[in-house]
Amino acid sequence: MLSLDRPFTYELDEGIAAGIGSLVQVPFHGRLVRGWVLGPTEDVPGRMLPVKKAVSPVRFFDRSMLEVLWWVSERYVAPLASVIARSYPPRVASEETAGSSPPRASTHALRPETPPILSSSYKGGFELLTALEDGAGAFLVRPAPEDEQRVAVEAVGAALAGGRSAVVLVPELEPLPATASAILEAFGERVALFAGGSQRARYRMWLDIGSGARPVVVGTRPAVFAPVPDLGLLYVSRESHAGHREERSPYYHVRDVALARSRVSGALCVMSALCPTAEAVTSGAVEVVPRRRGWPPVEVVRPGPEGRAPRLISALKAVRRGFLFEPLPGYGVARVCRACGEPAACASCGGMLRSEAGAVRCTVCGADGTCANCGAADFGITRGGAERVEEWARAIAPVPVRRTGPGDRPTPPGDREVTVGGVEAVKDFGPLGLDLVGILDADQASRRPGLAARERALATWMEAAAWASPSGRVIVQTRHPGDPAVQSLVSGNPERFHRSELPRRADAGFPAGWPVFRVTGDTTLADELDALHPGTLLSSSAEGRTVCLVALDPGSVRAFGQTMRALAERGVVTRVEAEPHL
Ligand SMILES: [Zn+2]
Ligand SMILES: [Zn+2]
Repeated sequence: MLSLDRPFTYELDEGIAAGIGSLVQVPFHGRLVRGWVLGPTEDVPGRMLPVKKAVSPVRFFDRSMLEVLWWVSERYVAPLASVIARSYPPRVASEETAGSSPPRASTHALRPETPPILSSSYKGGFELLTALEDGAGAFLVRPAPEDEQRVAVEAVGAALAGGRSAVVLVPELEPLPATASAILEAFGERVALFAGGSQRARYRMWLDIGSGARPVVVGTRPAVFAPVPDLGLLYVSRESHAGHREERSPYYHVRDVALARSRVSGALCVMSALCPTAEAVTSGAVEVVPRRRGWPPVEVVRPGPEGRAPRLISALKAVRRGFLFEPLPGYGVARVCRACGEPAACASCGGMLRSEAGAVRCTVCGADGTCANCGAADFGITRGGAERVEEWARAIAPVPVRRTGPGDRPTPPGDREVTVGGVEAVKDFGPLGLDLVGILDADQASRRPGLAARERALATWMEAAAWASPSGRVIVQTRHPGDPAVQSLVSGNPERFHRSELPRRADAGFPAGWPVFRVTGDTTLADELDALHPGTLLSSSAEGRTVCLVALDPGSVRAFGQTMRALAERGVVTRVEAEPHL
């Protein structure tokens, strides 16, 4: 609880084998509760109760990890106790006394090495490799499409060569990203794949990581806290992916925690993305980019009738292996009720009705589609969406066409195949060498709500375009060829987009790099927050509840957090959510 977020002081008898990071049992308001030892304090109260006993022989954090956890608690206005509790997997006590099962061969035979590319082909690559051996700092890599996995392997290899360990953070593990597979293949038994499995296996793995048995860790968000000794590298793969933001409280963003942890532990943080976020671009990280950018040729065409440009049609007629990106799901949108002729709208909520998987449903509330006016369920449909694209592409392409729908397990197109899908289909599959990638309905991105919607769209387009072989074709359909995001897609360089995006974000009151919070509380909340003079404050009230969106100068987060804790104690604030998706 935010209102109780402070340390308490106890007397720790030397006879109890405990220290920083120990889980202990202490008396608290007449009950026995568990807590972690944060360390000695100067601020000794007159009367102290003694620590009863150590609950576990394990130290759950050391001094430097504690500093990171404090940072997370402060930066995201989250109770330290819940940050600590989430920094390691649930305990399985019997594993703490069981012998560890360290990897059998730390001398794993590596595959014949591919020639290194960072030092030879990347501007800033030599500096990065030198820093990886024993330095610190932050680097932002924009790999060439075919290098994404090799760059990660090389960076990890350099850290290991310097006698340091590495944590590779991927946005998701299902399907296993090509970057994660490449690390596993290159470093074999030295890699801890920190994911899934039983609770016991997961805790065992965490203990092994702490013992130094596996100097490379690959995992999603929780791995940013992996207790590897001698940390040299935190590698954030696909930095702009939404999966790097923790969706449960305590909220955090992997990129920012990785940057903070690298500062605390004298390690390197490497962020890698074809299209990094505005936050990464403005983080002050050293840019590492290919000296010669390999990017497939991108053709910009106007969408033809029903979103089919003649040039796309003719490319499809000759395709062998391709991908069509269509951001909208379904077969089309209901426009008019066939029974009464009224415009189609959801009978329950008035929302838009979409035809998807053979049924018409409301896109807002999910109700079965019935006419708000007469209750009929027969609509005139304006066709458009991934299902419709699949249908017309089938009629044109000389090879099979397969659609990846929401809930399908995404796989790359087969040897002679075209796939159709939205953002859920664009995964880290490695370079695919497709002969055609179509970006359909690109203008949909600017119609999406949300401050970062365009950035996310560009990142997805670039990841899909990167699947095209250097001699392949990328065709993007848009009515706005001069749009900075489209221009950035054409050049394979997000700079142009960020030049227009950064001032836009600042004008909207949410400059890149400013912490953002969504605060929920009672009706006095807006006035209380206004008194703090935040950079930006937007508020809305309904039914005695107020929700505020606050953007802050980074320097004022500490004071903001203290006020939130005080307001939580008074009951004014009920919830603080850091870094909401904007
Ligand atoms: Zn509805
Ligand atoms: Zn009707």
